[in-house]
Amino acid sequence: MNTTMQKISIEKVKTSKIDQVDFDNLDFGSVFTDHMLVCDYKNGAWETPKIIPYQPISLEPSAKIFHYGQSIFEGMKAYKDTENKIWFFRPLDNHRRLNISAKRMAIPEIPEAFFMEGLKALVKLDEKWIPQKDGSSLYIRPFIFASGKGFHASPADEYKFIICLAPSGSYFSGKVKVLIEEKYSRSANGGVGYAKAGGNYAGQFYPTQLAAQKGYSQVIWTDDNNHEYIEEAGAMNIFVRIGDTLITGPTSDRILDGITRKSILQIAEDEGIPTEVRKITVSEVVEAAKNGSLKEMFGAGTAAVVSPISTFGFRDVDYDLPELAESYATRLKKRITDIQFNRAEDPFGWRYGL
Ligand SMILES: *Cc1c(COP(=O)(O)O)cnc(C)c1O
Repeated sequence: MNTTMQKISIEKVKTSKIDQVDFDNLDFGSVFTDHMLVCDYKNGAWETPKIIPYQPISLEPSAKIFHYGQSIFEGMKAYKDTENKIWFFRPLDNHRRLNISAKRMAIPEIPEAFFMEGLKALVKLDEKWIPQKDGSSLYIRPFIFASGKGFHASPADEYKFIICLAPSGSYFSGKVKVLIEEKYSRSANGGVGYAKAGGNYAGQFYPTQLAAQKGYSQVIWTDDNNHEYIEEAGAMNIFVRIGDTLITGPTSDRILDGITRKSILQIAEDEGIPTEVRKITVSEVVEAAKNGSLKEMFGAGTAAVVSPISTFGFRDVDYDLPELAESYATRLKKRITDIQFNRAEDPFGWRYGL
């Protein structure tokens, strides 16, 4: 792998679009900054990344992304503190995971310098776009896809690595009602569930639409084998609190190794909350809901950080979770976002200054 890199070239926009943006009413991921990073893979090597104005890209109709779905991505954020300093959160873990996804999808891995130097140069250039309003941040979407042409069902010979930036408000507001899924699966043993592959999301949309028709906003995925174990909440890792113990499933072929998940586990341990990483059965969750020991369920991921669940549906019965004055979800979300926004000590070394 060629890991040496020339200086990143920068072509700036003539006029910024920033004045047209209403920073007080930002949706999630629907407004993009002035620039993007593009890096091409050709002739067996990654070329020097370029920063150019945010713009459409042109591809051959036979580009393999369209036919065979070789496409992976990452989701991360940049935060601005009250002194206008900019921070990333565990960005090297995103780089590592992008390469884990790349390997699984037969996409060439991207060297660390290309990812990190590209990320830093782009965010620095568009730093005015990082919102400062509480809870808002700059959502960062690095992705790689097969741009090489040809209908032959084999890995492409050309790829594009792109980073786009989207100033964003908070992702979810309010608690969500979820459905425990027993027919469809998100992932399988030996499959691609542990990779952030675009197709994993496409496969989730239809079952999620069916759940929405029944009034649920997300699906709780169970294992593909017997639908016996609770695995993920939509595109987030899932945590369950039974009594005072916080439980999440072990990462596997089927469960994505979320950075929020592992950070929450470490914070919970630091706070003296009893934690368990083990398989969670649907039946124990239903049983705990019936006997009152089920205190909380929440999803965890970069976009929403923590997304509390108010109700879960299972086999045509809805089970409501209690309203707690002192929830783990609120406490853990505060601790992790305080670290992200540089409002608190970071004993774990997770913050990464730009
Ligand atoms: C991205 C993702 C997560 C969360 O990962 P983070 O690193 O915490 O953002 C969880 N599950 C799935 C399926 C995902 O794609």
